[in-house]
Amino acid sequence: MIIAVDGPAASGKGTIARALARHYHLPHLDTGLLYRAVGENVRRMELDPTREADAVAASNFEDDLLDDPALRSDEAGQLASIVSAHPLVRAALLQRQRKFAHQDGGAVLDGRDIGTVIAPDADAKLFVKATPQIRARRRHAELKEKGSTLSLDKVLADIRARDQRDMGRDAAPLVMAADAGILDTSFLSIEAAVKRAIELVERQRQLKAAKV
Ligand code: C5P
Repeated sequence: MIIAVDGPAASGKGTIARALARHYHLPHLDTGLLYRAVGENVRRMELDPTREADAVAASNFEDDLLDDPALRSDEAGQLASIVSAHPLVRAALLQRQRKFAHQDGGAVLDGRDIGTVIAPDADAKLFVKATPQIRARRRHAELKEKGSTLSLDKVLADIRARDQRDMGRDAAPLVMAADAGILDTSFLSIEAAVKRAIELVERQRQLKAAKV
């Protein structure tokens, strides 16, 4: 079974995707990390993230980089959002994601275009959302725990800037797949959100089974 989990930054999609992977005993891929790795590589190579050729040159990274805590920083997220708008960067990362999704037994992937581009054939699709203010509060608390001194206002501004770039770009913009189930986590605890996510997946599986 392939489960696609899409949504904006700090919506809770990563937590939900990991919980679904545990529940269904499936491998999980956080596709945002791939774009963060390209962004971080651009920074290390002192390239220009807005130039497509530079970003493509940084797309060939070692797998080790995916475990680097530097990828979790706010700066890496912003750089990821810039490099991910280049069609050739998306193309460079496409096969890796499709292969992961279509491995034997299936997988859970979370990102921005899983249900629309990477695995439009997914067995279940979720679109996870929450208000920008709530997402900023979550991300702020997370960053603070890691020692960041960024203000809540700055985190909110970054979230809004990222939303605008991710939704406004031409290449695989963040849009909800027509057949995705919406999960608004704004006022849900993690436990309640995960429970709802499992219900949505089960409903989609039953609908698919009834159609066959
Ligand atoms: O999910 P995360 O915040 O780690 O993603 C970082 C950035 O990578 C996003 O803002 C988005 O621009 C990009 N991304 C993407 N497509 C994906 C996953 C992430 O464009 N499937």
